[in-house]
Amino acid sequence: MTDAPASQPLMLFNSLTRQLEEFQPVHPGEARVYSCGPTVYNYPHIGNMRAYVFADTLGRTLSFKGYKLTHVINITDVGHLTDDADAGEDKMEKMAAEKAQSIWDIARHYTEAYWADVKALNIRQPAHWSIATDYVPQMIEFAKAIADKHCYELEGGLYFDTSTVADYGALARAKTDEGEGRIEEVEGKRHAADFAIWRKTPAGETRQMEWDSPWGRGAPGWHLECSVMSEALLGFPFDIHTGGIDHREIHHPNEIAQNQAHSCSDASGARIWMHNNFLIERSGKMSKSAGEFLRLQLLIDKGYHPLAYRLMCLQAHYRSELEFSWEGLGAALTRLKRMVMAVERAKSKNNAAILTVPAAVESRMANFDQTISDDLNTSVALAQLEGTIDASMGLGDVLTMIEIMDAVLGLQLLTLSRTDLRIRPKAATITEAEIEAALTRRKEARAAKDFATSDKLRDELTAAGVEVMDGDPLGWDWRLDVN
Ligand code: AMP
Ligand code: ZN
Repeated sequence: MTDAPASQPLMLFNSLTRQLEEFQPVHPGEARVYSCGPTVYNYPHIGNMRAYVFADTLGRTLSFKGYKLTHVINITDVGHLTDDADAGEDKMEKMAAEKAQSIWDIARHYTEAYWADVKALNIRQPAHWSIATDYVPQMIEFAKAIADKHCYELEGGLYFDTSTVADYGALARAKTDEGEGRIEEVEGKRHAADFAIWRKTPAGETRQMEWDSPWGRGAPGWHLECSVMSEALLGFPFDIHTGGIDHREIHHPNEIAQNQAHSCSDASGARIWMHNNFLIERSGKMSKSAGEFLRLQLLIDKGYHPLAYRLMCLQAHYRSELEFSWEGLGAALTRLKRMVMAVERAKSKNNAAILTVPAAVESRMANFDQTISDDLNTSVALAQLEGTIDASMGLGDVLTMIEIMDAVLGLQLLTLSRTDLRIRPKAATITEAEIEAALTRRKEARAAKDFATSDKLRDELTAAGVEVMDGDPLGWDWRLDVN
């Protein structure tokens, strides 16, 4: 079998035009993608990680379609204020003050925590992790180039005049004079939507992170960093810019305005802007402060394999809201188990002798290609993958198709085992080795018709939170439940 030719046009929903558009690379054969990265002042919640599962699935799809992918994800370690527009404190400075730690230590700690989640979710490493503070000299140069024509100075720093570019806010479909949810107005701003590209350190204060600039000592604005790093690493224009849907309202319109100013054109910077919808909680927006902080580590501590969360994300279209629930996560874990068991079954069937009709393989791969090329229709692609695992075709062909499809969906189906997916709560007081040993003794007791010992062992396991699952259809011998 040969790899499926990437024949379907790749259709992606462009937030700029609010339409599906065919992907046409700027550089033939290449795909250059920039994803707004996390602000590393705290742990990412699983909603944040949805944004990177989406960006990763996009990258994997571009690779599947044969493009040479260059993906950049930035790390925001300066500039992001507590309000996305222009007000509030710098999130990093605020957390550093609260914890009485250096910003650099805070940034390192939470960047590493984010990278651990990236790895656990099988998100591929991008070509570059660009760290905002590494690009401050370039940000100053960028600001200098647009300052005369597009900016004005206030006591607080250098501000971008949004009336100097064509069609400001088109991406958000915002009415600029209402300033879309902008609070805490800055005195002297010409328009509500104008934003700081350089924030001066107030007289008499020092910040942990500050640099000299023509507009005084201070720090760059958050929007500036993405304009600068995307151009530095991907060129101008590049292909696709991604982020969560909140970025469609303020951060990305501001990046676009800066890009227009800097390029002296109407070019937005990226040809296609793509936004994933939110992961929500029943109570509303996901937040790091209210209620249970839904970090990936919490899911892992409760015993769920992180790829169950990846599967949960893929079950929904990236443009739809997705509501998180523990029941939903449990259902995704069960589905993943079924897929892994089906792969194990397919391998053991040893139907290597079945001769596959090449056309059957081609048609399966063409269907999958069509599905994923339809704006990443992952929920249907998952069903096609499941159908392929169960197909009665030659084992070699089945495994090759699973490998190709799983390279797009990233569920590690060929390497995960059922035991990897066992629920393993951190709070358990009994180890797996102890459970297995008790079950072996129970089996021996039953074989010897010593039912009193067998029942006693079962009762002991139950007391430790272990449910003995004789004859379970998914083939589980036991389940540990301490939630
Ligand atoms: P931040 O660290 O706040 O800059 O956010 C990192 C990424 O997560 C951005 O692309 C956000 O748009 C995205 N994001 C934030 N909250 C959610 C959510 N609840 N669901 C999905 N994406 C989100
Ligand atoms: Zn950004």
